[in-house]
Amino acid sequence: MANISKQDFKNFFKYYKEESQQVAGVEILFDQMRDVLKSDEHNWITTYRSKPEGSVNTNVFTADAPFDTNVTANFTYAELTNGGEEARRFTRQDQCEVAVEICEFLEKARAKFGPIKITSGHRPPAINAAVGGASSSEHLFASGCGAVDAYPSNGSGAEFETWCDNNWPYSIGYGMSYRGFVHIGIRAGKPRVRWDY
Ligand SMILES: [Zn+2]
Repeated sequence: MANISKQDFKNFFKYYKEESQQVAGVEILFDQMRDVLKSDEHNWITTYRSKPEGSVNTNVFTADAPFDTNVTANFTYAELTNGGEEARRFTRQDQCEVAVEICEFLEKARAKFGPIKITSGHRPPAINAAVGGASSSEHLFASGCGAVDAYPSNGSGAEFETWCDNNWPYSIGYGMSYRGFVHIGIRAGKPRVRWDY
């Protein structure tokens, strides 16, 4: 029986998603902790709670957050859910993490092109079927997948599409000419994929 390292211990926190088995494990740990470690003035707790100078909002984006929650600085949960439709809410944390990754890319696009309009984000199965989406659409945000359709408000759609093509290493659907948007997505395993509409 080997001991886990300090890094292994830190990794537990990194992967904590409030899943039932994780909650049970943390409760076992809590029950075994000495009382001195449970003081809310203990050094480990005050250090853990302190924020570095100049830090921005570090709240984690969660599926049950209000729709006006910012996923990143300039993109809200509402923009990924057709204005904030309950039926389009995410249901899992891994979907939120993919959404953050896509929105971080949109922030870079926004810095270059100005405001970016999202025309479609999360489409749960029933909605995806109703709009005629592919059965394996990245918009389903199935495990490891996610996508938005987007265009720049400044009218530079063609430049935006080329820029996305050059800067996004995962899925790009060239839709600017035919559909008025670029599909920017991720599929499981993060392969590089390109297609025309
Ligand atoms: Zn799309």
